[in-house]
Amino acid sequence: MKLIFKEVVLGLFLAIIVFLALQGFDITPIILLGAAIFMIKVLLGSGIHSRRFDVTNNRYASLSCIPNIVFDDIGGQEAAKREFIEALDFIHLDKKIRDLGIRPLKGILLVGPPGTGKTLMAKAAANYTDSVFIAASGSQFVEMYAGVGAQRVRQLFKKVYADAEKAGKNTGIVFIDEIDTLGARRGKNLSHMEYDQTLNELLTQIDGIKVNQKIRVLVVAATNRADLLDPALIRPGRFDRIVQVELPDKDGRLHILKIHAQGKPLADDVNLDQIAKETFGFSGAHLESVMNEAAIQALRAGEKKITQNNLREALEKVMLGEKLDRKPSMREKIIIAYHESGHAMLSEKVQTGSVSAITITSRGNALGYIRRHPEEDQYLYTKSELLDQIQICMAGATAEEIIFGQRSTGAIGDIKQAINIAKQLIFAGLSSLGVVDDDLSGSILSQEISRIIKEQEEKVREYLSSFEDRLRIIAQELLDREKLSGTEFRKILGKTA
Ligand code: ADP
Repeated sequence: MKLIFKEVVLGLFLAIIVFLALQGFDITPIILLGAAIFMIKVLLGSGIHSRRFDVTNNRYASLSCIPNIVFDDIGGQEAAKREFIEALDFIHLDKKIRDLGIRPLKGILLVGPPGTGKTLMAKAAANYTDSVFIAASGSQFVEMYAGVGAQRVRQLFKKVYADAEKAGKNTGIVFIDEIDTLGARRGKNLSHMEYDQTLNELLTQIDGIKVNQKIRVLVVAATNRADLLDPALIRPGRFDRIVQVELPDKDGRLHILKIHAQGKPLADDVNLDQIAKETFGFSGAHLESVMNEAAIQALRAGEKKITQNNLREALEKVMLGEKLDRKPSMREKIIIAYHESGHAMLSEKVQTGSVSAITITSRGNALGYIRRHPEEDQYLYTKSELLDQIQICMAGATAEEIIFGQRSTGAIGDIKQAINIAKQLIFAGLSSLGVVDDDLSGSILSQEISRIIKEQEEKVREYLSSFEDRLRIIAQELLDREKLSGTEFRKILGKTA
């Protein structure tokens, strides 16, 4: 109704202008005035339904229907799901809550790395509580113009109440992803106070949620960096529940792989348990990508079912990137083959059975690579385990040195990794320096790093030199076949022993 009225007024206005122009009046000032009013309205984002400023028109923003994701679609987050559901049950127990005078739960903060299922959790929460659901991302509220972010926050909340009313629901969930973009500590953004205004508005909206409202709104927010958030956001009465959503462990990874394998034909040789073992550090999003990529591999190969090989290939693609057409010269290939054989031999020395694949095919940034898998997921390392890791890192360059008398630039990444491990060792108080402070002087730190790495390099040199014949055979085999599986590699290693 309001819109029709506006259109009629606009039409009349245009007709008058045309009439005046035909009568010979100078209409330039009217046009200029109209343009100025339009600009002001656009900048303030008021009245005009511009795509830019209206959060409700944004393609990410509205999903007012109830999402069809349920908690069973989320794998490997058992503890987080339990905690989350417990908190959500507060919404169901509405009457009891009112009778006991408990203040309503207004906000739940999901904290964890990207791709672990935080958005899925928020959607499942809407489904579980039969609530309308609206999603937005923190970055959508950050604008250069004062007041726009705050206005978007208001629009978002207005929309959730309106949508719940329309859908006849008593509850609504507002999901704000990357809340750290908008909820960082106030006063931190010196350039403008816009962030602060936006955050203040969010706090006002959260504070405005009352127990006796007809429609109850729950704000679910997600972040990877809870430490960056303004303390006002996480104080009791606002986001007073914090749920940690971690990277999945092995059983969790298996669960997620099984969820995403649904509806995909798997060949008999597929061993998802093995893939779960080899994907330590992968998020749910990575695992979804592995299953999807494996299906694409099968399609490309004209196969009807996904094989274990498809899954392995997909895993490497997700881990390291697409295979490249980059063709190293024969001389470079020989260097790469020795480099990777060195890594693999040391990996096998420190942990038998740890090599799952070696290849000299370029992929992503790597000219060649070995893929290792731990026996078990590991979260804590002893000193000797860290030193072993340094040995594996340095084995590529050392192998080159033994065979060719010099190293190449191919070891830069390995060196960086070795330095990081050495730092970890030093700051955990495991080096000869004993317990050290964070602000350890730069020169003492770098001296200690060099000492640790040199000592390990010496051990690697000793080992590889004494098994140079094996190193040569493995590198040659790699040059002939481009890729060796862990089993093939161990067979050769055993044969030549
Ligand atoms: P986040 O919000 O934590 O960044 P999302 O919930 O957006 O992550 O996850 C992205 C995608 O990754 C999902 O759509 C889903 O396909 C997959 N995924 C992530 N975590 C899980 C999980 N725990 N179980 C099943 N799938 C998952």
